[in-house]
Amino acid sequence: MTDPSRRVLLAAPRGYCAGVERAVATVERALELYGAPVYVRHQIVHNAYVVRALERKGAVFVEETEQVPEGATVILSAHGVAPVVHAEAAARDLTVIDATCPLVTKVHKEARRFADDGYDILLIGHEGHEEVIGTLGQVPGRIHLVDGAEEAGTVVVRDEDKVAWLSQTTLSVDEATTTAAALRQRFPALVSPPSDDICYATQNRQEAVKRIAPDADLVLVVGSANSSNSKRLVEVALTAGARASHLVDSADDIDEAWLPGATTVGVTSGASVPEVLVEGVLDWLADHGFGHVDVVTTAQETQQFSLPRRLQPQHQD
Ligand code: SF4
Repeated sequence: MTDPSRRVLLAAPRGYCAGVERAVATVERALELYGAPVYVRHQIVHNAYVVRALERKGAVFVEETEQVPEGATVILSAHGVAPVVHAEAAARDLTVIDATCPLVTKVHKEARRFADDGYDILLIGHEGHEEVIGTLGQVPGRIHLVDGAEEAGTVVVRDEDKVAWLSQTTLSVDEATTTAAALRQRFPALVSPPSDDICYATQNRQEAVKRIAPDADLVLVVGSANSSNSKRLVEVALTAGARASHLVDSADDIDEAWLPGATTVGVTSGASVPEVLVEGVLDWLADHGFGHVDVVTTAQETQQFSLPRRLQPQHQD
């Protein structure tokens, strides 16, 4: 039964971004066109539910290009890859469908342009993340990872007057700003990216959670543990004043011990999370007395990306 003193603040925007919509639709369309199995290099997006659902339809997820049978079709994930992966695919005679988000491709192009102009590039990002590996691979030897403001003091470049910075698309805006400021202090001639690298979806979801967090005793972020943008939402919620915040893959992960003393629960979800998982969390909360939901909207999103060219009607054999 709904307790009138308890409420949910539901952040908007939340969930699927345009890049994830496109990547998931890419796998579904390829399955329709070519039939199962369709090979996908790495998790198409960082969400366990989405990956399992696509596996049931016939997608086969592999870690390395060499696991794809010669001559088969492979889809590259939304996070982007280094050019060496395209070379490996060509060597195995694979047909490549590239589901890299266009906003990641934009960062790749910026890296190559800065390198062509003679700059060393400082990439603000998290070590080991797939997107970071792909971006570092664009111009090996000319791009250096800076994982946090402390590393701004130790990174080595060829010419301190010829440096530019870029960032991973899914960072916390505040973290990237802090690290960029530390880099600028060390390299006064540092050149900034031509436009924001942290994508619109990451920024919008962080703004929305910042709005609900100060009023929330608990913020539940729906998302998988390997999702960078989802993990950042937990951090942003705590920094913005939430008393507690937890990442949950689904309602099954919610611990009733988080609820005592809470009257306002915030809910949001990462950019790779289908809405059905948020609905499950809202149902769980309603069953525990939090049936009243106020939606807090901080932006409207209209961005859409078309499918990779190979899947568009005029490019099919
Ligand atoms: Fe693209 Fe941003 Fe979505 Fe990543 S989070 S897939 S960069 S729109």
